[in-house]
Amino acid sequence: MVSKELPSVSPRTKTNGKPVFTDTMDYVLQKKLRVWCSSPDATWKLGQIQSVSGDDVEILLVNGEVLTLSPDRLLPANPDILDGVDNLIHLSYLNEPSVLYDLQSRYSRDLIYTKAGPVLVAVNPLKEVALYGKDFISQYRKKLNDDPHVYAIADLAFNEMRRDGVNQSIIISGESGAGKTETAKIAMQYLATLGDARGMESEVLQSNAILEALGNAKTSRNDNSSRFGKLTEIHFSETGKLSGAKIQTFEGGSKSNRGEDALDIIQISKEDQMKLFSMLAAVLWLGNISFSVIDNENHVEIVSNEGLATAAKLLGCSAPQLMNALTTRKIQAGKDNIIQKLTLTQAIDARDALAKSIYAHLFDWVVEQINHSLGTGREHTWRSISILDIYGFESFIKNGFEQFCINYANERLQQHFNRHLFKLEQEEYLEDGIDWANVEFVDNADCLTLFEKKPLGLLSLLDEESTFPKATDFSFANKLKQHLRGNSAFRGEQEGAFKICHYAGEVTYDTTGFLEKNRDPLNSELIQLLSSCKSELPKYFASVMVADSQNKSTLSWHSAFDSQKQSVVTKFKAQLFKLMQQLENTTPHFIRCIQPNSKQRPMLFEHDLVSHQLKCCGVLEVVRISRAGYPTRMTHQQFAERYGCLLLRSIASQDPLSISVAVLQQFNIPPEMYQVGYTKLFLRTGQVAALENAKNRML
Ligand code: ADP
Ligand code: MG
Repeated sequence: MVSKELPSVSPRTKTNGKPVFTDTMDYVLQKKLRVWCSSPDATWKLGQIQSVSGDDVEILLVNGEVLTLSPDRLLPANPDILDGVDNLIHLSYLNEPSVLYDLQSRYSRDLIYTKAGPVLVAVNPLKEVALYGKDFISQYRKKLNDDPHVYAIADLAFNEMRRDGVNQSIIISGESGAGKTETAKIAMQYLATLGDARGMESEVLQSNAILEALGNAKTSRNDNSSRFGKLTEIHFSETGKLSGAKIQTFEGGSKSNRGEDALDIIQISKEDQMKLFSMLAAVLWLGNISFSVIDNENHVEIVSNEGLATAAKLLGCSAPQLMNALTTRKIQAGKDNIIQKLTLTQAIDARDALAKSIYAHLFDWVVEQINHSLGTGREHTWRSISILDIYGFESFIKNGFEQFCINYANERLQQHFNRHLFKLEQEEYLEDGIDWANVEFVDNADCLTLFEKKPLGLLSLLDEESTFPKATDFSFANKLKQHLRGNSAFRGEQEGAFKICHYAGEVTYDTTGFLEKNRDPLNSELIQLLSSCKSELPKYFASVMVADSQNKSTLSWHSAFDSQKQSVVTKFKAQLFKLMQQLENTTPHFIRCIQPNSKQRPMLFEHDLVSHQLKCCGVLEVVRISRAGYPTRMTHQQFAERYGCLLLRSIASQDPLSISVAVLQQFNIPPEMYQVGYTKLFLRTGQVAALENAKNRML
């Protein structure tokens, strides 16, 4: 694997110091091809070059307007035979406007799915589209339809599972509202139909609805980001029948704890529903507890008696017990326990930590109940297809701890993806007997090292700083600057900020709140309180917490942070590693969901927004990687049929291979720009555009 930055348009290759392939833009100017013109409002307009004099390029736009621009405002546009291609890998020129134009022109025809190499890009239609249901399922099943589709991905996964006997995964990422959950349902629908489900399909889909309702309790993006992923395993028997399902969630730091309007419980017994509701109510009442300062050391007592009394009743403890847990802390001094009063901030933190922790464990408990009801056993389980619904890479104006965690997870997924893609490329080249040693691609190892290196990586340094009582978010930022200066993926920024060069772009993080969010705020008083409660769930949650903390010792080799409690990033990393381990043993399939506009309106395609997401989900990067080698692949036959007519001299042998080679020679395509395989020709970026152009001129 070569870790090297790839040129953004196409390569400038030199042989013996002599340029043999001119810069793409020079070529476009010289041949007066179609171009994209950037306008001040950040949109792109398509036009044809009319004339070039010095730095002035005259362009005729599609609407008849004529512009004069300098070449640096132009990007090459693709020949019109490539309009609306269903795989971006076929674009001769890969740039932002070309990709946007392709997706938009498809989207406007309700073709919401487009491939980017092996990845499926799904643009949310925000309306019903006639692409689903029995007829479509059977078309894809019988391979009668080769338009890109979630069904096609699910079908591929199913077939590879059966053919290779290997578990599969479908990794769906994108921002909130981009269509991940809907896409996951569409994939499940297909798999359930194939697996002849007998009602299993609706059970799996309903369980999704419950988790969505719980997980989406708060609509603000940041709060949702805390639950960063959900993995639904669909189990199959050896004969391809659905045999069960299992859901796992992966959680980040804090969790939202309010508002459950959409909660809809279908498969949980009435008794369990009551338990669930009373815990949710306890969480809400805890939020109503407020404190007042009683002395000049900022110590507090509880103001609202109603909140305290009701929360205590729901949890099954006494009001004084709850009060003590929220306002005091026991400290060990030698053999004695000293009771220390909490300050206002500490008390508020304790209250919120208790509420969040109950909520988090409640969520996990619901997942357990669902898994129980989905339970296996109808058929013998053989292999599985896992569907991962995960937050994609995030980059906002202000980025905090949540983005830091999510983007770290996405770096890991990207690495997984790169490895897989590279393997696929390698296989296709080897199969056709070509030399693939020249294939280069960007790898994100530097960035992962930046996060994970011990003791001087982002995670270790964050954990270390989190254990110093006197440390601040500023001192953390300074510490990073001091130790990570040399890392190519890191940049120190102005006070309290730092920048990471992610595969999907640079992100500046504001360290405000990092230390606080990274500390596990649940003190042992609170765990003890829960374990002494009379209600069943709080007691159960406490036992899970104790078990988790005992588990810590087996996990601690993962982290340099060996204080009493595991930090949030350490837990996050352990969960991420567990997820990656599960994915590692599967053949992955990737779907990137895109939100077309910020207004939730159908048919509206906002360039800025889409372009931002394409960067975030690394679509251009994916295509670039897929094209780093020889993106254009045509059989000898196809190539000879399309370009044989361009031959000026007749040649002796009329077989497709001889014709193809003669065409390549006639156009002086340099040998490093193509390879001849057993069945196919493999061409580098831009070569087809050159041939198409020659063809247009000759005909
Ligand atoms: P996410 O899980 O990424 O937050 P959702 O899957 O909940 O997003 O999608 C948000 C909304 O977009 C859905 O409620 C639905 O209205 C619409 N939507 C998403 N995908 C589709 C689709 N394939 N067809 C029709 N509507 C869709
Ligand atoms: Mg969702």
